[in-house]
Amino acid sequence: MVHLCQLLVLPLWASTGWAAAIDRRRDTRSTASLDTCLADAVGGEDARVQFRDEADFNTTDVKPFNLNLQYQPVAVLYPQTTAETSAIVKCASLYDHKIQARSGGRDFINKCIGGDDNAIVVDMKYFNKVEVDNTTGIATVGPGQTLKALVNGLIDNGGRYIPHGSSPTVGVGGHLMVGGMGLTSRQNGMSIDVLQEVEVILANGTVCRASEYENSDLFWAMRGAGASFGLATEFKFQTKPEPEEIVSFSYNFTSSNLTVLGEALKAYHEIMRDPQLSRKVGITSRFTAASYILTGAFSGSEADFDALKLADRLPTMSTSTVLPGLSWSQFMNSLFNDAGKSNDAGYFYTNDMAVTPETIPSNSSIDSFISTLTSGGEDAQGWSFLFDLFGGAMNDTPENGTAFPHRNSIYFLTAYTRTAEKTPATAIKLVDDAVLSLQNNKPENYLGYAGVPSLSYGDEAQQKYWGSNLARLETIKAALDPNDIFSTPQGVKPSSSS
Ligand SMILES: Cc1cc2nc3c(=O)[nH]c(=O)nc-3n(C[C@H](O)[C@H](O)[C@H](O)COP(=O)(O)OP(=O)(O)OC[C@H]3O[C@@H](n4cnc5c(N)ncnc54)[C@H](O)[C@@H]3O)c2cc1C
Repeated sequence: MVHLCQLLVLPLWASTGWAAAIDRRRDTRSTASLDTCLADAVGGEDARVQFRDEADFNTTDVKPFNLNLQYQPVAVLYPQTTAETSAIVKCASLYDHKIQARSGGRDFINKCIGGDDNAIVVDMKYFNKVEVDNTTGIATVGPGQTLKALVNGLIDNGGRYIPHGSSPTVGVGGHLMVGGMGLTSRQNGMSIDVLQEVEVILANGTVCRASEYENSDLFWAMRGAGASFGLATEFKFQTKPEPEEIVSFSYNFTSSNLTVLGEALKAYHEIMRDPQLSRKVGITSRFTAASYILTGAFSGSEADFDALKLADRLPTMSTSTVLPGLSWSQFMNSLFNDAGKSNDAGYFYTNDMAVTPETIPSNSSIDSFISTLTSGGEDAQGWSFLFDLFGGAMNDTPENGTAFPHRNSIYFLTAYTRTAEKTPATAIKLVDDAVLSLQNNKPENYLGYAGVPSLSYGDEAQQKYWGSNLARLETIKAALDPNDIFSTPQGVKPSSSS
């Protein structure tokens, strides 16, 4: 049985006249009355409700991140309060329109603008609070913050931090909906693992608090599949004092011969499969046509970092840099500054895979990956493959502990191609073929991270993102959002059996 919001949902749908009201409005609905409802929801302030027939709507309000996917929403709204946001969600339900929140707008397939045409988009930019309770260390954070603003806000509020990803422009809202992992996740888990409570607006407009103790089914679903269940307006995180010192490191291999780079990739796989590897170390690595670069962070002293002997486990490098004794703020500023162009809108395509100790690619799969890319010819432009080490504390939570199912994973691959114009099918095929080579042509053995969604998944997307947790998610969805108002093509759909 699903316990949700003190069963606010069922009485509202069933007995307060809400369902009858929806039926009446559906009978008489028109674009004009939807527009009026939305305008009323933000107090009739023109600047905070933009419709698709307005000038500059696409460039100023829709602002697609992936330029390959030019979806057309019906409206973009900028609420300033929870009450306004609830009123917008009620309009979506009354007029049977899909609705999605946008926090940072950094989803690879533009889910925040609906992932399809005709959605209502709720931009959360005014929800930008960061406050820390100095006694408990609990931070209250708005979803409209970017990760960069979150990091700075926590540092300024008593030198605190939480685990999160490495991209400055990613929004807190969307990050929490998928998981949120980064260079300290092997030590601290994911952003969702330190989430204590979330305020959510449900499909019927109800404002609901969810935690382990209150509406726990909703809390479970929000941690990994949240965008299908409601609109988050506030998060409460357990923060920690920032690390005393960080060692930042970078190992660079430069060659136009991919086979040479492949030897470093194989050595890195040996490091990633080591169950004894310290949790204090986090590594991301980028494999491109000209170089393979491993960068990372170690939380501790230079002497303790040296004792890991990481460099000794890799082939001879072109260059290397080790910077010990950094403050958290120094390290994060340099990480965010290096994040580069991948944060800007552009034409791109992604594929990915979650890798467990049982499915880690063998050296022969890596050889096959290298030969696929080598034979890519002209299409071997613009691609990059990120091999990000995880495991550690991320694996301390059971697979069914949150909606995020990848608790047995030790690394995630983000396969990516970015092109100057619309991404051609040949470039997409090269990326897909390279991923298949790493998978030894057995894609069925691999799940994918909802934070790196891929259009390659087709009808299997939900199974790929949520694996064994999908059935429970579908049941909760049927209870909370039976008409699939919080909808994207790859989102959780309501189970038909509930
Ligand atoms: C350049 C880049 C680097 C990345 N690096 C990492 C990384 O290091 N680690 C990692 O874990 N992930 C990473 N990601 C993935 C990232 O965490 C997800 O794409 C995340 O969903 C983006 O959040 P957003 O708020 O910017 O996205 P948006 O596009 O605003 O939203 C993405 C989805 O979440 C929903 N959503 C947004 N806000 C809310 C809300 N308040 N309530 C309910 N639903 C909401 C949207 O409706 C949409 O479906 C990266 C992505 C990019 C583009």
